[in-house]
Amino acid sequence: MPKIYFIDVTNRDGVQTAKLGLSKIEKTLINIYLNELGIFQSEFGFPTTRHESRYLQANLELAKMGVLSPIRLEGWIRAIIGDVETAFRLVPGIKHLNLSISTSSQMIDGKFQGRKKKEDIINDMTEALEAARAAGAETVGVNAEDASRTDLEFLIKFGMAAKEHGADRLRYCDTLGYDNPFTIYETTRALAENIGIPIEIHCHGDLGMGVANSVAGAKGVIDGGQDVYINTTVNGIGERAGNADLVAVVLAVTKSKGFGQKYKLGHPIKLKKAWKIAKFAEYAFDVAIPINQPGVGANAFAHSSGIHADGVLKDPENYELYGYKELGRGEPVKVETGREIIAGQYSGISGFSHIMGKMDVSFSSREEASEILELARYANVESQKPLVEDELLFIAKYPKIAKKLLTLTPLE
Ligand SMILES: [Zn+2]
Repeated sequence: MPKIYFIDVTNRDGVQTAKLGLSKIEKTLINIYLNELGIFQSEFGFPTTRHESRYLQANLELAKMGVLSPIRLEGWIRAIIGDVETAFRLVPGIKHLNLSISTSSQMIDGKFQGRKKKEDIINDMTEALEAARAAGAETVGVNAEDASRTDLEFLIKFGMAAKEHGADRLRYCDTLGYDNPFTIYETTRALAENIGIPIEIHCHGDLGMGVANSVAGAKGVIDGGQDVYINTTVNGIGERAGNADLVAVVLAVTKSKGFGQKYKLGHPIKLKKAWKIAKFAEYAFDVAIPINQPGVGANAFAHSSGIHADGVLKDPENYELYGYKELGRGEPVKVETGREIIAGQYSGISGFSHIMGKMDVSFSSREEASEILELARYANVESQKPLVEDELLFIAKYPKIAKKLLTLTPLE
């Protein structure tokens, strides 16, 4: 029986969202938390974007060091030869890529304005795919942008061409959140049956069905005989109405009526880390988790009305599908109400040593402390908000990597 895998795209689709963004250290921590959570692959950025180069290289170094392992780090580029060449020039160590190109008539005509026809789309994609393989890519996924508005016959033709030229997966992008669970099931099942390679499901929430479509799409792919790779983002952060939320999709495929009994995960997910990554993303994006968010919202385990409170106190299963401890909730949060010493871009050595001492980090020399402080100052310049404990610990533990993450040299 084929299985379900997760590819998180927070560090690509999440960060390209209007009005939002993450510092390079915040992106790195997201990768570390995704790895702790057991996510198969992180779409960790844009290999053709110059300000990403050092971040991508530094994260590949962390992978080599075993810090970001076993998670796979994969970059997103357009399915054109030029992007493949730029990606390998700027990030020579990149091993996993997804190549994206529009497949719907709406986008082919609407974007290329007559300059490209359907055959050109397939040609661009297969050329880019071969170039990526030749340059040393170990795995390559091909993304059909706006797949849900693409006619099925062409989508299968596109997928077959991808398969013949060595693609590992086809990504079915419901770019505009146009599908519903019934349509996506039919389509993804047909793709899996006719093309015969694993399929990725990429869903958005424009009609409020991102999670539901991910579940139905996954079922379609597995019923069609292939492994499915569900794309998610942390807290559902993504363009417009957002992407399918990571925690909600994990809960849906493991806890919804009968689904988890039949459709299994290809890798264990450590749901206990869900609370930590959701709260970090909330802070880093500066976007509050909605009070009614599945699993990690403030009200997800709150009960007030008489009948519910009485019922849940007698037996939590009366009114809760799953327990808060499963998501890593329940630890009291310490909030400082008195004096605070905070690490910022203008901090000095005394205050900084005090902060690090509270986290049981001591320095062998004043020089070492000064070096870490300098990195923390730059990290604060980039994030413009107090660094969280894990950021400070990361900088203290991997100063060389932190330096790389903080080095931005425009117009080089
Ligand atoms: Zn998207």
